[in-house]
Amino acid sequence: MRKLELHWQIILGMVGGVLFALAMVQFDWGPKIVSDWIKPFGNIFINSLKLIAVPLILASLIKGVSDLKDISKLSKMGGRTIGIYLITTIIAVSIGLTIVNVVKPGSSISEETRNELVENYKGDADSKISQANEQKESGPLRALEDLVPSNIFSAASDNGNMLQVIFFAIFFGVGLILIPAEQADPVKKFFDGFNEVILKLIDLIMLAAPYGVFALLAALVVESPSLDLFKALGWYSVSVVLGLILMIGVYISLVWIFTKRKPSFFINGISPAQLLAFSTSSSAATLPVTMERVEEHLGVEEEVASFVLPIGATINMDGTSLYQAVAAVFIAQAFGMDLSFGAQLGIIVTATLASIGSAAVPGAGMVMLVIVLAQAGIPEAGLALIFAVDRPLDMCRTVVNVTGDAAVSMMVAKSVDKLGEPKVKEWSDHYKPSK
Ligand code: ASP
Repeated sequence: MRKLELHWQIILGMVGGVLFALAMVQFDWGPKIVSDWIKPFGNIFINSLKLIAVPLILASLIKGVSDLKDISKLSKMGGRTIGIYLITTIIAVSIGLTIVNVVKPGSSISEETRNELVENYKGDADSKISQANEQKESGPLRALEDLVPSNIFSAASDNGNMLQVIFFAIFFGVGLILIPAEQADPVKKFFDGFNEVILKLIDLIMLAAPYGVFALLAALVVESPSLDLFKALGWYSVSVVLGLILMIGVYISLVWIFTKRKPSFFINGISPAQLLAFSTSSSAATLPVTMERVEEHLGVEEEVASFVLPIGATINMDGTSLYQAVAAVFIAQAFGMDLSFGAQLGIIVTATLASIGSAAVPGAGMVMLVIVLAQAGIPEAGLALIFAVDRPLDMCRTVVNVTGDAAVSMMVAKSVDKLGEPKVKEWSDHYKPSK
């Protein structure tokens, strides 16, 4: 198995998981076997990735920021990162809107299917709507207020907030830049070593990746709804997936134009992270692997990767914003509403903001979709229409979210002259003991 490239190992795991689950579904006891004996291994795999995400962000961002040596470099990189992130998100929403207006997937939904879907998924939709309402009940400066944690340990805890951890790490890194070198150096060395250990842990966890994705996909297959619903929502799903594929094309072209790195180089480098994003539906869980791939296989220097990627995993979700645009207009179409040009422009703004506000976990994009619907005056109950296919689409949009972060990190690295050669050429290099 070790000889095969990592992405092939993961693909084998995924296909194996799906086939195994399909075979198990043939027996009455099959699904139970999968949920009791296979699914826990998938959860263990995701937990181990999440486990190292916070220490990784802390160690690598503190080191990355302090390596910048002066604060103006930090603000320059920060400005570019946020700027490029915003531009790619607006491109994504515009692609989504164009496709949904051309394909018009909502108009092919019969009234009968619509009522059936609303009936079946009303409860699920209501729970997402109440989650979204909790988030909405806050003042205009709430996001800024939330950025600063009052306690770093609760920020880093299970229900913690990634942006708060990022804030703390940057703040700490700035402090390190400002103190004399003889005091800063031992602290930097500590985080440097700590960071290396975490990167090694990622290598070790990735040894289990093929088995982890096997378990995750097997569990998904036995839990997924019937195929009939997929068919009813076929054009809607096709519109989202088509938009996402186009967006991947946009990244590949941007990377090619701005960094002169070929599409095959980019895709080969990032593909294991994409496959994990697909299997876990979480950019936060995928973050450790995204960072490792971008630094070691795509040649982005650590100070850029450690800054751009954790921020991207939290605020740059192009796949999510594209999906929100398609879903909002689809629901409007299904309810026979005609959205004016102005309302669609409004969707560009709200979907961009909603994707920034979405957490990097499964299903978060759907919660924030409620806010897009409310702003555009589309019935929130329409969420029930798209529930059945949300998980597979979540898997696909998470791939785009992660790919976008990686592409932007390459562009930012190029712009500040920090894009070098990949450190690791072969997968097996990871497991050579260090001298
Ligand atoms: N699952 C997505 C992510 O983690 C967020 C979403 O669109 O639901 O990137």
